[in-house]
Amino acid sequence: MSKINRRNFILTAAAAAATAKPAPVLAQAPAAAPAAPQGPFKQPPLPFHESQLAPVIGARTVTLHYGKHHAGYYTNLNTLVQNTPYASMSLEQIIVAAKNDSDRRVFNNAGQAWNHELYWTMLKPGGAKTPGGKLAEMINASFGSLDEMKKQMVTSSGTVFGSGWTWLVQDGNKLAILNTAGGDGPLTSGKTALLGIDVWEHAYYLDYENRRTDHVKAVLDNIINWDVVGSRLKAA
Ligand code: MN
Repeated sequence: MSKINRRNFILTAAAAAATAKPAPVLAQAPAAAPAAPQGPFKQPPLPFHESQLAPVIGARTVTLHYGKHHAGYYTNLNTLVQNTPYASMSLEQIIVAAKNDSDRRVFNNAGQAWNHELYWTMLKPGGAKTPGGKLAEMINASFGSLDEMKKQMVTSSGTVFGSGWTWLVQDGNKLAILNTAGGDGPLTSGKTALLGIDVWEHAYYLDYENRRTDHVKAVLDNIINWDVVGSRLKAA
C-alpha cells in the first residue's frame, strides 16, 4: 500500500470506527496493548549516525533499515522464544538449533538479527578503500585481485532471487562468494562470514530503486570497514 493509500485507508477506517456502534466488550477492554517482552535479545547500537553513510546509503534508508526492519527482528524473536529453550541460547546457537528444528519463524528472525549485527559493524563512513594484511593476501590468492573479488560479489548479488544476502566468506584457507536466501547466512553451511551485503529491497530501494548491483558496488567501493572484515578471519 502506498503512503497516500495507507493514509486514506486509515482515515476511512477511523471514520468507519467513529460511526460504528461501540462494541461493549471491546470498549471495556484495556486500551493499551501489552508491552512487547523485554529481552533476552537486544539490538546493538548503530556504530555511526544515521546520516553518515550518505550519499552511498541515505539517512532515510538507514533510519528505516536499522530502526524498523532490524529492530523488528528482535521484537519478533523475543516474543517467539518466550518460555522456550531458545531463550537462554546465543543468536548463533538459535540459528543452528532452529534450522535443525525446522522452526522457520525463529530461524528467520534470529538469522536476520545476526546478519544485520554483522552488516552494521562492517560499514564505516568514509571507510578505507582497500583491505590490508592477511585479508588482502587471501583476497589476492583466492580471486587474483581486490577488483576481481568486488566484481564477482557485485555479479553474484544480482543473481539473488528475491530477498537475501551476498557474502564474502572464509572456507578453510580460501575465500569465496556465497549467496543466501531470506534470513539465512553462512553459519548454517559452516562457513565464516567476513562481509555481508544485504540485498533485500529495504536495503537500497529508496536510494537506488531497482539498481541493486549499483548499490552493492557503491557500498564495496566506499563504505566498507575492512579492519572489521579482516578481524573476522580465523586461523585456517
Ligand atoms: Mn536488512
